[in-house]
Amino acid sequence: MKKNQKRIHRREFLENIGKAAGSSVMFRAFLAMGLGSSLSSCGSSSAEATPSPSSVNSDASTGLSSNSSSQQSFSLGEFTSQKSPRPGDWPANSGMGKSVTILGGGIAGMTCAYELQKLNYSVSILEATDRAGGRNRTIRSGDVVNELNSSQTCMFDDHNELYFNPGPARIAHSHEFLLGYCREFGVELENFTNRNSAALLHSTSAFSGKAQVAKTVFSDTRGNIAELLATAINQNALDSELTSTDKTRILNMLRSYGDLNRSNYKYEGSSRAGYSGQESIGSRDRDTQISARKLQDLLVDEFPHWATNHSEGINQQPSMLQPKGGMDKIARAFYAKISSSFTTEAIVKQIRKISEGVRVVYERGGVSYEIESDYCICTIPATVLKDIQNDFSSEHQNEITSFQYSNAPKLAFQSRRFWEQDNSIFGGISYTNQDITQIWYPNNSLGANKGIIVGAYIWNNNAAVTFSDQLPQQRIDSAILQGANLHSNYQNEVSNGISVAWRNIPFQLGAYGLSSASVLLTPDDNIFFAGEHLSELSGWQEGAILSAYHAINELTKKVHA
Ligand SMILES: Cc1cc2nc3c(=O)[nH]c(=O)nc-3n(C[C@H](O)[C@H](O)[C@H](O)COP(=O)(O)OP(=O)(O)OC[C@H]3O[C@@H](n4cnc5c(N)ncnc54)[C@H](O)[C@@H]3O)c2cc1C
Repeated sequence: MKKNQKRIHRREFLENIGKAAGSSVMFRAFLAMGLGSSLSSCGSSSAEATPSPSSVNSDASTGLSSNSSSQQSFSLGEFTSQKSPRPGDWPANSGMGKSVTILGGGIAGMTCAYELQKLNYSVSILEATDRAGGRNRTIRSGDVVNELNSSQTCMFDDHNELYFNPGPARIAHSHEFLLGYCREFGVELENFTNRNSAALLHSTSAFSGKAQVAKTVFSDTRGNIAELLATAINQNALDSELTSTDKTRILNMLRSYGDLNRSNYKYEGSSRAGYSGQESIGSRDRDTQISARKLQDLLVDEFPHWATNHSEGINQQPSMLQPKGGMDKIARAFYAKISSSFTTEAIVKQIRKISEGVRVVYERGGVSYEIESDYCICTIPATVLKDIQNDFSSEHQNEITSFQYSNAPKLAFQSRRFWEQDNSIFGGISYTNQDITQIWYPNNSLGANKGIIVGAYIWNNNAAVTFSDQLPQQRIDSAILQGANLHSNYQNEVSNGISVAWRNIPFQLGAYGLSSASVLLTPDDNIFFAGEHLSELSGWQEGAILSAYHAINELTKKVHA
């Protein structure tokens, strides 16, 4: 080592690679160093370590934070659970002679109803809107989106493949319970693409503000990082950290990882980055490979790397899935199993404790009704629940009142599939550091003439609030203006825009929970709480299901106490 040359420790070096190039590079480096097993010994977590650049809030993944507190294990009779609670844990017939009122008919409420019915509880679900599913919703031609201050009618062509999922739209392959219900209910699935090499990465402060075909950024970043690491190894900078076997293994790995020159380990560009003119069909020059960019030019702005690495997250990795024909196929399938217990347009007004259990007052068609039951499971979002009259303990009410939510609005257009026909983009997501944040290309009906393109899905909370506060036409105008920085003819292609700003949707008033639940994981006498916001996977339907299992588990403990 030369005098004054800073010695890089192995861990520090790998961490720096991880920051710049993503966890998969670091992971491969670990593997090549024979350290794979030490990674797995760190244990697993459902948390998604999404980098949080200044331009994007940390809620950006919709994988969101990890609330470990819902992972309580308990023992009852013959069953103990080190795992999170799940069907099969609860004694058959344990609900015989017991009644439960479930508040809210989203995925959490319907999971509770379905599983409790199987245990022979007498179940009633009260749902404020005229449909089952809550945030699980699919918008098609003629559907009406009512917000607090506006109303929009969906003007898509009347076709079953032209739909917009304004809430949940993708399912991680690891979301075993949700996927289990899809299997059980016969909900057909198809692939959902997060990362598409032909999609675009756009940052107003990188690459002169010009959108880049993602594969060029992927390849050049990997190539440069690989070259840098190879250089350090070949200059013996890591000799005190690496054995000669480590060095050989890493160098071999780096050649293929970064597509380096086989003899000198230099990154000299790669066919992986594509060819000149590749962004539009008809202007490709297959003889002219994209020239390699320097690492310094690639690192001007963090955003493209954050966007590149987003699909590395544990809930965002391939394969991702979606139900064929729209996400509400899942809600409809649940509903079919529990429809006899389900009351729509039943707006809960009061939740009261009584000596024998719980009394719920609700309004339906302007008439007030009451229902009394032994137990109640409340899945109403905290944003709404905080203003419902109740007898909750002050600790429960305080947590409800202070619960923070993301706002995450979405907007979609109908369009000719110019992204497929002109740009060879089939599914996947383009990212931009403008407010719209993302453009999602449909994964269904590839090759058809028309499709629904998601023109905004906003994670940054300030931008989400600004967008939500706009009238629908203003949202459309700003989404078109920003989209044109990725697709130059955007304004002439897209039409029939429709948006959903969750913070303005009655009975939702927010997109998904951000706070960590604590008191709400415990019952308040005979009242139990569930909903995605209370789970370790908030912002996911799987989280809504996990929260339902937790509530059923707590209820089972109480019934058997
Ligand atoms: C923009 C966005 C993107 C998302 N992306 C994904 C994704 O890609 N994949 C994924 O798996 N998940 C995603 N999610 C999360 C997913 O939608 C939720 O985790 C899940 O649907 C929540 O289910 P829930 O039953 O907890 O709540 P909800 O679906 O909100 O159900 C609560 C129900 O309570 C009802 N209610 C409210 N007030 C009252 C009242 N006074 N009386 C009676 N009923 C009432 C509501 O109408 C609603 O039906 C996304 C969510 C959003 C908003």
